[in-house]
Amino acid sequence: MIVRGRDVRARCTFCNEEAIYIVKHRKLRLCREHFIDYVKTEVENTIYRFEMLKNVKKLLIAVSGGKDSVTMLHILHQICRELGTEILGLTIDTEIGEFSRKQVETSVQVFKSLGIPYRVERFSDYGIDLLRPDLEKITRRPPCSVCGIAKRYIMNRVALEENCQAIATGHNMIDIAQYAIANILTGSLEYLTKLLPKVEEGPRMARRLRPLYFIDEKETKLYVETVKLPYVADRCPLSDSRETMQDTVRALVRELEDRHPGSIRSFVDKLVRRIIPSLKVPEERYGTCKICGMPSKGEVCSFCRIRMLLRGET
Ligand code: SF4
Ligand code: ZN
Ligand code: ZN
Repeated sequence: MIVRGRDVRARCTFCNEEAIYIVKHRKLRLCREHFIDYVKTEVENTIYRFEMLKNVKKLLIAVSGGKDSVTMLHILHQICRELGTEILGLTIDTEIGEFSRKQVETSVQVFKSLGIPYRVERFSDYGIDLLRPDLEKITRRPPCSVCGIAKRYIMNRVALEENCQAIATGHNMIDIAQYAIANILTGSLEYLTKLLPKVEEGPRMARRLRPLYFIDEKETKLYVETVKLPYVADRCPLSDSRETMQDTVRALVRELEDRHPGSIRSFVDKLVRRIIPSLKVPEERYGTCKICGMPSKGEVCSFCRIRMLLRGET
């Protein structure tokens, strides 16, 4: 809960400055400085607990320009500097008009202001056009599915090209709980294993890291505002304007955490420690895509399959 006004009782637990944030489940009131410290320490603890950066010499940090990825970049930049881990920023231009233009512009602005080397990859360079009117009909997938497959492919490809052993993405605690609950509701338990804070590397597959696993989206919003970092808050024009099941689950997750502080944090912790390890999901076997040479469950990977369909090949 954000404390507004000049309530004399709302003082930082550590230094008596005015508190701007309360961590209810820990009964902590934090001033600006101690809030920034708190978020960084939480991210650090997650990195150490899951040995995220073990054997990582170079880390690829995927940034969309939203509050989560900008917060992650700002914190990882400090942590990696302390550890001597090289970093490379990546932003993917989905080429969805003004929305993605702002995302790329903001990401590049943050990379430059922090002095972080970066790459910008464009969907059109990979043969993807999300604005094609017949996209859904041809690929038999909604735009978000094509977008997600393309982004994951491009991230992994860039990581391999740049000798990055791991990729960090900015999924926060609310995202993780939402995906997990939605997958439980639909019985897609095999997808839960992909929701760990660290998904180990494989042949031609970089390790995937979610350093914001225990960070609430409210905290990233307050972080960017407190540190005064630029970020894009717009909603993607291709996201469904009707309320989807995912939206409903997200609203429920939000309400749970607000009404019962710490409940979602405890849920994602149990996801890692108990729920996912207890699942008997057969290990996925990856071969090599015969077109691009990247990991694939079938002869041709999902990304190459989409590109073939868009080119009119079957
Ligand atoms: Fe891509 Fe869908 Fe997200 Fe838009 S809402 S950026 S199309 S995944
Ligand atoms: Zn303080
Ligand atoms: Zn392929």
